Amino acid sequence: MRMYVCGITPYDATHLGHAATYLTFDLINRYQRASGVDMKFVENITDIDDPLFERAKRDNLDWANLGASQIELFKNDMSALRILPPDDYVAVTDAMELIVEAVERLAEMGFTYELNGDTYFKIWDFLSDLPFDLEEATSIFADRGGDPSTLGKENALDPILWVSNKPDQPGWVSKLGFGRPGWHVECSVIALRYLVGTEYLSSEREVVAEIDLQGGGSDLIFPHHFMTAAIGKALTSNNFAAAYLHSGMVGLGGEKMSKSKGNLVLVSTLLNSGFDPMEIRHALLSQHYAEDRMWFESTLLTSRVRVAAIRSALSRIQVAPTDLVLHEILKALANDLDTPGALETIDNWVSATENGAVGGSVGEISRFIDSFLGLAL
Ligand code: ZN
Repeated sequence: MRMYVCGITPYDATHLGHAATYLTFDLINRYQRASGVDMKFVENITDIDDPLFERAKRDNLDWANLGASQIELFKNDMSALRILPPDDYVAVTDAMELIVEAVERLAEMGFTYELNGDTYFKIWDFLSDLPFDLEEATSIFADRGGDPSTLGKENALDPILWVSNKPDQPGWVSKLGFGRPGWHVECSVIALRYLVGTEYLSSEREVVAEIDLQGGGSDLIFPHHFMTAAIGKALTSNNFAAAYLHSGMVGLGGEKMSKSKGNLVLVSTLLNSGFDPMEIRHALLSQHYAEDRMWFESTLLTSRVRVAAIRSALSRIQVAPTDLVLHEILKALANDLDTPGALETIDNWVSATENGAVGGSVGEISRFIDSFLGLAL
């Protein structure tokens, strides 16, 4: 199984929305690996992006240093939450040669045009795959970094493929001029290169298999995943991904958690204030990945109590039967990652153990919830 997950832009610390997203794909990764599936999991790091440059400029920092320090913090938060790292963590700056090759190839194939020094990708051929009507898509595109109202564009939804160099920003040499890539093409290229191979750039353009799964938060459905797929399809003449999975948004105080609203709950803040990483992980698992949800302090406090009860049950010599419990947890996970259901099954086992039921294996259930749910208790 070849899984690609869109990674962070390293300009700010990991908040619970990020954690919930990467936890979702960690569950898939763990389930597949534990089931004996040959997994290849790639995640990118968008270390070339406007928010990173803006933040660096605002704080008078070098963008590369800022990025490197934020990537380090992100990795620490991920490992604290026991999110298994991808096989390849690919920074855009490390994949630049491939990205340049791909944008040049797209230009040769006639998929691009130049406007004000920038190069745009012609989305026209791919609009039949649009997940919304044109008007709604245009409005979302504008909200999420697109520029539908730039004068002279062939189509309002054409995404930028190569940005001409701006003062104080890094640039790379390409046949499209000195500049840097737009966001979407980065993911198309990194996913294809690391999951499929470089054959997609060969002139023979033989049939290349699509990747199995592309994932990210639901705010990436459009335009990012749509554009990534269109660019991938232009490069390979094949569908980009066989399936997509998106995690819901995490909100606080009635609103989506976001930097612009200033309502972020950071993983590092929770860790520093004394919460056990497994309590945080349990709290995230107690809500379903696909749902947009609100985060409350009580979510975490409830998990603290539940985690303590599981730990106490696991410390006993005699525990309630475990065979059926493992089966029920697997069944819940196989049912669209029903983690709330899986955790309830564990609670029921804890209650049965507290009530004196015997005949189970502590080692077995302990290893099992560690492998499948990432809860090391
Ligand atoms: Zn992406």
